[in-house]
Amino acid sequence: MRYHIWTIGCQMNAADSRRAADALEALGLARSATPEGADVLILNSCVVRQRAEDRVYGRLSSLKPLKARRPHLLIALMGCVVQEDVGPLRHRFPHVDLFFRPSQVEPLVEAVRRHLHHNPTPDQPGPHRLSPAPVSAYVPITHGCDNFCTYCIVPLRRGPQWSRRPDEILREVGKWVQRGAREVTLLGQNVDAYGKDLSEPIELADLIRSIHEVRGLQRLRFLTSHPRDMSQRLVDTVAELPKACEHIEVPVQSGDDVVLRRMGRGYDSAYYRDLIARMRDAIPGLGLATDVIVGFPGESDRQFMNTCQLLEDLRFDVVHIASYSPRPGTAAARLPDDVSTEEKRRRHQAVEALQTTVASEINACLRDHVLEILVESRQKGKWMGRTRSNKLVFFSRPDDLRGSLVRARITETGPWSMQGQLADKR
Ligand code: SAM
Ligand code: SF4
Repeated sequence: MRYHIWTIGCQMNAADSRRAADALEALGLARSATPEGADVLILNSCVVRQRAEDRVYGRLSSLKPLKARRPHLLIALMGCVVQEDVGPLRHRFPHVDLFFRPSQVEPLVEAVRRHLHHNPTPDQPGPHRLSPAPVSAYVPITHGCDNFCTYCIVPLRRGPQWSRRPDEILREVGKWVQRGAREVTLLGQNVDAYGKDLSEPIELADLIRSIHEVRGLQRLRFLTSHPRDMSQRLVDTVAELPKACEHIEVPVQSGDDVVLRRMGRGYDSAYYRDLIARMRDAIPGLGLATDVIVGFPGESDRQFMNTCQLLEDLRFDVVHIASYSPRPGTAAARLPDDVSTEEKRRRHQAVEALQTTVASEINACLRDHVLEILVESRQKGKWMGRTRSNKLVFFSRPDDLRGSLVRARITETGPWSMQGQLADKR
């Protein structure tokens, strides 16, 4: 018996898919590289932009002939496409057997188990064998979001924020490390608001301090942070704790105060600039990533230029760029989507060009530096790892270095990755 999982969207979906894979392997299913080879097929979906949603529907439709050919195939859809009322989806995709809302991994696996029990196939599950753990594991610590950024569908699909209990998170981190992970990334839509909703409220800074004590864990990251929830205490904790990596993802979305207000972000550009200055001051060598949306309703050319100016001034290591996409049920969907597709594309390309230059310049300064790399995997004949500031480094070496912390001298740099040579192995 084999399973195949197709995932798009955020790291939270990647973490959910990984959990589902582990649970299915514990039931004795093996991974299939293709949907055609699978008996259980899971699609983990995203609706953050129309394009993602369209890809999910395209994928679902393409599975119809496969299901017709192989009726015993179990197809399950999970993630943000699935709303409370699954009637319309059931009607549109009758070949899908099961529907689960985001992060409902345990009910999904339980339903698969029941299905296999009641529908025995000639090929039964084999002995239980778990795939190796990733060197860098994702650990969700909050689900949902309490903010209502006017463009964003996430709170409508994932509901209000709830935080997992610290003891449960610590146990999960411990398990990952026992299985071979060396780094964990704590996940939440608004990860720096962690703990506010717990009956005994604690802060992300406190949680990080406890996780830091886990023996065998070498590195610790968290994402994505909301600028308004990033406390000085959290910044100082990252600066202080050796395992906490110098890497923070803090989306700005726009560099224009009027657009920020209309997006409902709860800060202005002066606040954001000050936050970045404080973080850089406290954390030397900080790798910073941000998100921007271009073409929000009513965004004028001047307002867009304010975003470009902010990006030019603050010089991020990474900028995730999105063209605005109206999402049903959000406040912004009621505004006219008045920046043309052509203009959105132009703005998208302008930010891309600007960021390519900035990232190339930042990375070029790292040439000849010796950096600590955690080696994650082998890709196209080279080892791939990340620096503490989350930069990708590739290098050649015959021995198996997966999971090792090494030091590499940077020999070549580009905007998105770097090449290196091993300096020594720890
Ligand atoms: N919680 C994070 C924050 O505060 O920014 C981000 C989570 S959101 C699911 C991921 C990214 O998708 C956002 O940063 C935003 O840039 C993009 N996004 C969300 N809604 C969008 C929309 N309607 N159109 C275009 N991009 C969107
Ligand atoms: Fe969406 Fe805003 Fe919540 Fe991020 S903080 S998930 S952008 S509503």
